[in-house]
Amino acid sequence: MSVSDSDRPSPRPSRVPVAFLQWIDSDYTPEGPEKMRSEPDKVDWMRCIPFIILHAGCLGIIWVGVSSIAVWTAVALYFVRMFAVTGIYHRYFSHKTYSTSRLGQFLLALWGGTTVQRGALWWAYHHRHHHQHSDEPDDAHSPHVHGFWWSHIGWITSRRNFPTDYSKIKDLAKYPELVWLNRFDTAVPLVFALSIFGVGAALGAYAPELGTNGWQMLVWGFFVSTTFLFHGTACINSMAHLMGRRRFNTSDDSRNSFILALITLGEGWHNNHHRYQSSTRNGFYWWELDITYYGLKALSWTRLIWGLKPVPKSIMEEAARADHVTSIAAAQRAVHVHPEFSSLKKVFPAAAAFAVATASAAQATMPPKPEDPAIHKDVAEQVQQNAKENPQPRVI
Ligand SMILES: [Zn+2]
Ligand SMILES: [Zn+2]
Repeated sequence: MSVSDSDRPSPRPSRVPVAFLQWIDSDYTPEGPEKMRSEPDKVDWMRCIPFIILHAGCLGIIWVGVSSIAVWTAVALYFVRMFAVTGIYHRYFSHKTYSTSRLGQFLLALWGGTTVQRGALWWAYHHRHHHQHSDEPDDAHSPHVHGFWWSHIGWITSRRNFPTDYSKIKDLAKYPELVWLNRFDTAVPLVFALSIFGVGAALGAYAPELGTNGWQMLVWGFFVSTTFLFHGTACINSMAHLMGRRRFNTSDDSRNSFILALITLGEGWHNNHHRYQSSTRNGFYWWELDITYYGLKALSWTRLIWGLKPVPKSIMEEAARADHVTSIAAAQRAVHVHPEFSSLKKVFPAAAAFAVATASAAQATMPPKPEDPAIHKDVAEQVQQNAKENPQPRVI
């Protein structure tokens, strides 16, 4: 029995040229982005070769050696670009927690591009999706659903997570300059890497006493620094829903962690952020170190950005009530654990009764579980519109 030409399935394009084109043009998808997104999770090794090279490039330190200036450059570029991840990709493009001009927005997108974490629009699309489906089966990087390693690194190697769904970030996709940077998302990293090489070569030629050169600066300033930057950022996906304390009873398992806040310049206050996404600061108190917020505050003095959004009074009151209940519960546990507290209870029964009454009162006055955290108006409108236009099938 013969099969006519029209009945035959069209041959699948060879993976090598397709992957090569996708390294340059990330919007190139022969089968269409919808089909890619509907595929099951699977590592696309060809597509990941640049990511593998990024990690393998760190081994270059064996050949290029080390110098103080190369190491300090790597450290400085880690923090300068971690600020771009958190202050720009996260707090501006994903949540619009402050305002800027169109030129300012473009400059911020360029700065964000040096992080080598793809374009601002791809980043914002996936991050908004995370907030909509946190710790549910549809969440691309929930450690509770997919395990630690998949949520840390696996999910970005999966074919289904490569495309950007522009229909769900229309508030950003209306700017062609942002779409261009998102589509050709290797352009900024390439220029950035070449610039580091150029600076290193110039230092080698004109300041030989520093003991560096182009290749050494490229390995430390680009490959080592960027690899650490990736894993520092990925800790939020893999660990911020596992490690730390929960202040707010959010519908996901987000947590607050001082250690993660140090690594990521403030993103460790993830439970605060899941409770209220629209504020520029993630650390709600002065002792919740949030260097990204201090940096954004400083940037606002230059007028590049403005309109930083505060944490509303109602949220701060809710935080105070939650902390009060937690401290009373800790005191109650201590009474059972430590004999000296039991003795104290006998000596001062009235004080113990007062403490228990206070704890009960605080629990009674706790507000009902909040609805999904309020997000910025245009983001909220975008989400609603998307839900109408593209109802999401729930995977169980
Ligand atoms: Zn967020
Ligand atoms: Zn989260």
